[in-house]
Amino acid sequence: MLKITIIKRSQKSIRLRIKNHQNVILSVPKHYNNAHCEQIIEQNRKWIESKILLLQTKERELSQLTQTQKILYFGQWLDIAKFANPKEILANDLKDLICKYASELANKMSLRYEDIKLTNAKSYFGLCTNKNLLKFSLMLCFAPKNCIEYVVIHELSHITHKNHSKNFWNLVEEFCPDYKCRRKMLRENAEIYKRMLARIF
Ligand SMILES: [Zn+2]
Repeated sequence: MLKITIIKRSQKSIRLRIKNHQNVILSVPKHYNNAHCEQIIEQNRKWIESKILLLQTKERELSQLTQTQKILYFGQWLDIAKFANPKEILANDLKDLICKYASELANKMSLRYEDIKLTNAKSYFGLCTNKNLLKFSLMLCFAPKNCIEYVVIHELSHITHKNHSKNFWNLVEEFCPDYKCRRKMLRENAEIYKRMLARIF
C-alpha cells in the first residue's frame, strides 16, 4: 500500500516526490479533483514503486555501513578496536592535519587567517567568517585527505573573495586544479559523514 499525501497549491505545475523513502507527496494545482490525482498516481505507479525500492535499498545499505564496529578514518574503514578513545583521536588528528594544510597553503597563497576552530556542524564542512576565522566540521575526519585539503583551500580563498564568484573559483582552481572531483566526492558521502558524526561525537 502506498502512503500518499496530496498537497493543493496555487501553482500551475505538478510535482511528485518521495519523502523518507516511503511517503509519496503529490503537489497539484488547486482546481485538481481526486480523480485527477488518482490518475496521476496510476500513470506514475511504476516510477513510484521503483523509486521507493531504490531509496529503501540505499537507506538499508547506509545504516548497515554506519552501524558496524568499523570507524571511518580519513576515508578508510578501520576496526574500532584500534582506537582507545575514537572521539579524542579523530578530533586531534583532524586538527593537526588541518593546521598543517592551512599554514602551508596560506604561505603559498600569501594569505593570513585569524585562527582555526573545529565544530560539530552538520550543515557545512568549512566556513570562513568576516574576521577570517576558519571553522571546520568534525565530519571531515571521515573524509579522504585530498578532500580535506580542498576544503582548506576553499576556505582560505574566502579570505580574498567573500563569495562564490568566478574569481573565487579561479583562485580555488589555481591551488587545487581537480577541486570539482574532490567536491563531488565530499557531496556524495556527506550523508555517511553526518551519520558517523552523530555516532562518534
Ligand atoms: Zn564557500
